[in-house]
Amino acid sequence: MAGIFSKIIKGEITSYKVYEDEKCYAFLDINPNAAGHTLCVTKKEVDKVFDLSEDDYNHLMQFSRKVALAIRKAIPCKRVGMSVIGLEVPHVHVHLIPLNSMEDATFQNKQSLTPEEFQATVVKIQDCL
Ligand code: 5GP
Repeated sequence: MAGIFSKIIKGEITSYKVYEDEKCYAFLDINPNAAGHTLCVTKKEVDKVFDLSEDDYNHLMQFSRKVALAIRKAIPCKRVGMSVIGLEVPHVHVHLIPLNSMEDATFQNKQSLTPEEFQATVVKIQDCL
């Protein structure tokens, strides 16, 4: 059965889509550590990042770098952090998180954004891609 991120990629569940290419899909995390927190997901539904083929792994990293550079331009922050966790959703994804403090990297201090704020964030990042 398709997982939640595969349903998002297919458009069966809505998301604030940032960018996609033939192998990956980027969208805003619905429960962000900070505004601009973005997930870069492989279209192939693989559980663990180091089980990706070398080509797919390298592609995901290149894709994530492109999105991270846009986030860095669009969202005021000290730097963009990158995490791969997957304990909640077993479908390979890279978290890109605008960081101003170590707290922003801890997944303990969540921000709630309105739909308008999510949409405005997407537009700002897309304008920098
Ligand atoms: P992880 O699997 O890396 O521990 O975390 C999964 C991440 O996916 C979490 O940060 C969570 O907020 C996010 N997430 C889970 N379900 C959805 C969803 O339906 N839509 C979006 N946009 N993000 C989700």
